[in-house]
Amino acid sequence: ASSPANKGDSLDDRGAIDYKNIRTKLVLLGDSGVGKSCIVLRFVRGQFDPASKVTVGASFLSQTIALQDSSTVKFEIWDTAGQERYASLAPLYYRGAGAAVIVYDITSPETFEKAQYWVRELQKFGSANIVMALVGNKSDLHASRKVSTQIAQEYADSNGMFFIETSAKTAENINQLFEEIGKRLPRPSTLKN
Ligand code: GDP
Repeated sequence: ASSPANKGDSLDDRGAIDYKNIRTKLVLLGDSGVGKSCIVLRFVRGQFDPASKVTVGASFLSQTIALQDSSTVKFEIWDTAGQERYASLAPLYYRGAGAAVIVYDITSPETFEKAQYWVRELQKFGSANIVMALVGNKSDLHASRKVSTQIAQEYADSNGMFFIETSAKTAENINQLFEEIGKRLPRPSTLKN
């Protein structure tokens, strides 16, 4: 028997590899306060409710989306829940992740600097085929913007990442973020004979 092409492969009820429906571990990284939990709650529950965030331990939620080709992607989403302070925990946290969402706040240049730190970490210690998304959150606060779209886009391009600006508050681009990641995830190679 050949081994699955990637760790996210799902098995159907006969134990065969399911080529259409994949699942992946997705980790969120970024400074405290940039809106990671709000992005997840907006995506999974369709609401903006900062008060309901999980604050103890690593929180874990899953959500399945259908793509246009009718394949599905199940995201197993890991949020740091405030543990981003413990840098030494990080390699354990993102081990086996097929996707990483690195979030900064468009009103805070410090959080954009920190996002670049996480990108370097993932380039060093993340899985080889990890899909990385750079996310400028709080796009609704455009009057207070301090990180330009162009600079972030150029940084993402030069690091082979997908870039998008979102608002967990208004829901702008939240579903698009996860759809784009789903499209970019490597599929198990189809058997030729
Ligand atoms: P985390 O520490 O990265 O998980 O950040 P949270 O999800 O707890 O959000 C931190 C704060 O930012 C909360 O007070 C949210 O109300 C606020 N916030 C999160 N996303 C947005 C957004 O898209 N727009 C605005 N205006 N505020 C946001």
